Amino acid sequence: MFNAILVDQPGSAAKIVRLGESELPEASVTVDVAWSTINYKDGLALTGKSPILRKFPIVPGIDLAGVVTASSHPAWKPGDRVVMNGAGIGESRWGGLSQRARVDGDWLVRVPEAFDLRQAMAIGTAGYTAMLCVLALERQGVTPVSGEVLVTGASGGVGSVAIAVLAGLGYSVTASTGKLEQGDYLRNLGAGAVIDRHELSQPGKPLQKERWAAVVDSVGSHTLVNACAQTRYRGTVAACGLAQGMDFPATMAPFILRGVTLCGVESVMAPMPLRLEAWARLARDLDPRKLEMMTTGIGLGDAIAAAERILAGQVRGRIVVDVNH
Ligand code: NDP
Repeated sequence: MFNAILVDQPGSAAKIVRLGESELPEASVTVDVAWSTINYKDGLALTGKSPILRKFPIVPGIDLAGVVTASSHPAWKPGDRVVMNGAGIGESRWGGLSQRARVDGDWLVRVPEAFDLRQAMAIGTAGYTAMLCVLALERQGVTPVSGEVLVTGASGGVGSVAIAVLAGLGYSVTASTGKLEQGDYLRNLGAGAVIDRHELSQPGKPLQKERWAAVVDSVGSHTLVNACAQTRYRGTVAACGLAQGMDFPATMAPFILRGVTLCGVESVMAPMPLRLEAWARLARDLDPRKLEMMTTGIGLGDAIAAAERILAGQVRGRIVVDVNH
């Protein structure tokens, strides 16, 4: 028997239950989970505020890190340290907020040597998505000499990792945040400047003063529109999130008058070569001391309360869940 968070049916509250091995879904690899996380999407799933969960009953949790205990998949054997994120886990397939999981080995990634299992989950979907954003900027030719990079939703999971990685690579980073009291935290991660997110969150002019060579945006809505309107000639905006809203009330002006490129970033079904590239780059480019600075640990019993806090915008950085406590 093992502990897990379960949601029985649409609209029912998430609860901690004891499950048996026989209740795990059919899949090729069984994993003893050590750590999971709370991402924004887990917040939506655990509180039922958005229809993230699509198959019931389900164990939520879009991330897990652990050790393989059984495998019928040729790539994996007992003892392998693995991380899994996206690919439908915690949405349409049983997820990571559990002491045990059974998953499709085609989607597993080996935990890089540089990280222990807790660090792998401190990165989790949010950190891996931040790296996908950095890779998207690089593919457009952005380099540290291109100019200032704006990171929105700066104190959140994606934002914190994006700042740490970009600063480590030598970029000059401006952090946009609603938590100005977290200025020291953001500067310690590597932000050179911190601005109030209200400068970006209201409707603005279609073209504004050119400021950013590139942007990593996890906020969407007017913030993304203004970020595009302030992006310099031929600059690049990587958009991955919607913490302010799903809407995009923009004009074409930045795209057709300044040649701005807007790159959509999607992590859930990202192909394996891109996943491997992102994890390898995280191992190389993310300072573990900065990762620790942004990470808070909780037990499985605290995960549901943490879900409420992340939706209320009260979480700083990353939350890791020790599923065995
Ligand atoms: P977090 O909640 O950790 O961070 C989001 C941050 O956005 C908050 O910390 C806050 O930062 C800011 N924010 C919150 N509410 C608002 C608001 N109303 N207006 C403006 N800013 C706001 O979430 P994550 O970092 O885990 O995820 C960020 C976004 O990225 C989410 O929308 C998530 O769904 C999305 N995402 C998408 C992925 C993909 O595959 N495309 C993968 C991973 C995440 P501050 O207080 O500093 O302003």
